[in-house]
Amino acid sequence: MLEKVRLGRTGMMVTRVSMGCIPIQRLSLDGAVELLHRAFDYGINLYDTAHFYTDSEEKLGRAFSGAKRTQIFIATKTMSDSYEKAAAEIDESLRRLKTDYLDILQWHNPYNIDNFLEKRGPYQALLDAQKAGKARFLGFTNHHQGRTHAAIDSGVFDTIQYPASVLSTQEELDISFKCRDLDLGFIAMKGMAGGLLDDGRIPFAFLNQYPHIVPIWGLEKLSELEQFIRLAAAPEPFTEEMKAEAEKLRREYGDGFCRGCGYCQPCPIGLPLHTLMRVVRLIKRAAPAAQFTPERLADIQRIDDCQNCGHCRAHCPYNLDVPRVLKEQQAGYMKLYEEYQRGGQ
Ligand code: SF4
Ligand code: SF4
Repeated sequence: MLEKVRLGRTGMMVTRVSMGCIPIQRLSLDGAVELLHRAFDYGINLYDTAHFYTDSEEKLGRAFSGAKRTQIFIATKTMSDSYEKAAAEIDESLRRLKTDYLDILQWHNPYNIDNFLEKRGPYQALLDAQKAGKARFLGFTNHHQGRTHAAIDSGVFDTIQYPASVLSTQEELDISFKCRDLDLGFIAMKGMAGGLLDDGRIPFAFLNQYPHIVPIWGLEKLSELEQFIRLAAAPEPFTEEMKAEAEKLRREYGDGFCRGCGYCQPCPIGLPLHTLMRVVRLIKRAAPAAQFTPERLADIQRIDDCQNCGHCRAHCPYNLDVPRVLKEQQAGYMKLYEEYQRGGQ
């Protein structure tokens, strides 16, 4: 039986192992439905998706329409920039999810939330949806600290979704404590640091220290689901050894820690920034061959063509100096690539 916690003032009792539904986009319809049904059978009751996660909502709709719908909570998001687009997306999300209500309707990643309460903008569409009974609670999801603080301070959101992981800074974690103190639900995205961590043991033990944090683990494989179920059944304390490992990782990433969120895109010269920014780590943690393709090598070489337009820097919610980190990743990549070539692997 999975432990449940109260998600702030929503009063919803949600499982501390909850599920993020970005990765099911990569599964077939049948594969996604099977995974979601297994998650349901294990007792997971909160599923987070978004209108812009391609077919994720449709897969959830297929898995959970009918009797199962009342036994779970669904959170989805819109990131539209106008009232009309947001209202249309909310209705489409309901159709895709085969439901007539959302448990949490979230406003995702607006670049500017100044005076959002006075404007007839996306927030008003969320509010109108709630008044019409299409959403029980309203949430805010973002990667940017300043905007997240502004959303919390506005007092109009019931839940906040923000990245939290073993690699988070104290400043980032403090956002979760602020939510706890104000009785807002705190949903943690990027618990595996945007895919940089490949084993759930340490990330789980870290977040499990904080009962007010509800992580939505992005799950794609049955083995990943089963690992979190095992970890929840016999939770380990966050040990000194785990702490030392986390410190090592933090040092390794330094001030170039890219979470892979992709908000720096698009790059006018077409660089796949969210991959190139983490390419050295991806080589070390996964099969190097996947990164040593002629296409990836060409991307790496095109880093030299950066026009320094500033788009990536201006849009990175973590204020990363993207062109500088790209050059560091390029140097690291070339070193590993030469070693790989010499090794004849
Ligand atoms: S600064 Fe360079 S890497 Fe960044 S978006 Fe512009 S061209 Fe692309
Ligand atoms: S550079 Fe910044 S915006 Fe781009 S993927 Fe990394 S963390 Fe996200």
